[in-house]
Amino acid sequence: MNGRYRVNEIFYSLQGEGYWTGTPMVFVRLSGCNLQCPFCDTAHFSFTEMSADEILSAVRAQGGACRRICLTGGEPSLQLDEALLSAFHTAGYSIHMETNGTRPLPAGLDWVTVSPKEDVPGLTGNGRVVLERADELKLVFDGTMADHRLAHWTSFPAAWHFLQPCDTGQPEQNLAVLQETIRHIQSHPGVWRLSLQTHKLLGIR
Ligand code: SF4
Repeated sequence: MNGRYRVNEIFYSLQGEGYWTGTPMVFVRLSGCNLQCPFCDTAHFSFTEMSADEILSAVRAQGGACRRICLTGGEPSLQLDEALLSAFHTAGYSIHMETNGTRPLPAGLDWVTVSPKEDVPGLTGNGRVVLERADELKLVFDGTMADHRLAHWTSFPAAWHFLQPCDTGQPEQNLAVLQETIRHIQSHPGVWRLSLQTHKLLGIR
């Protein structure tokens, strides 16, 4: 990256999803993605080019004493390199990353969330997951995924497996998807846990 990174936004909030729900983190949203999901609700295309030092200054300004960064996107693996990761660690930050799992990652991340998009209807791009493990797997569920595909993801090597209802943008449909998500989790006890987009429910970023 020649020491410059395309940054969409940096903001301080609470992790809304998965295992770390409710935990303060500074979100560093890197611009761009190698996939196009029909339900993608993230405006990640615009960017400002920043150096690692400039990103760290912005992280400190936003997060104060918080020492936990969540790299997100877009697809942050398109830009994350060892130099940026090392700069974060040297400054004392734990680094989380949310990825679609289609690209290899630099070593040393403190927490990796894989959110596979292989099964998304209407996906554009090669969504095949190449990562072989993660700390958590977070599967966005539209209520229609075939049982054998759901079972496939439960065997992905991760400490936690979360099923997260897809936000369709339509309240009635969202309720049906949520009910189907809960039904599937309850019928597979000990396998899946529910992840909600709590930041949306709370009206925060
Ligand atoms: S992988 Fe994530 S960021 Fe990329 S298009 Fe899909 S939902 Fe959006």
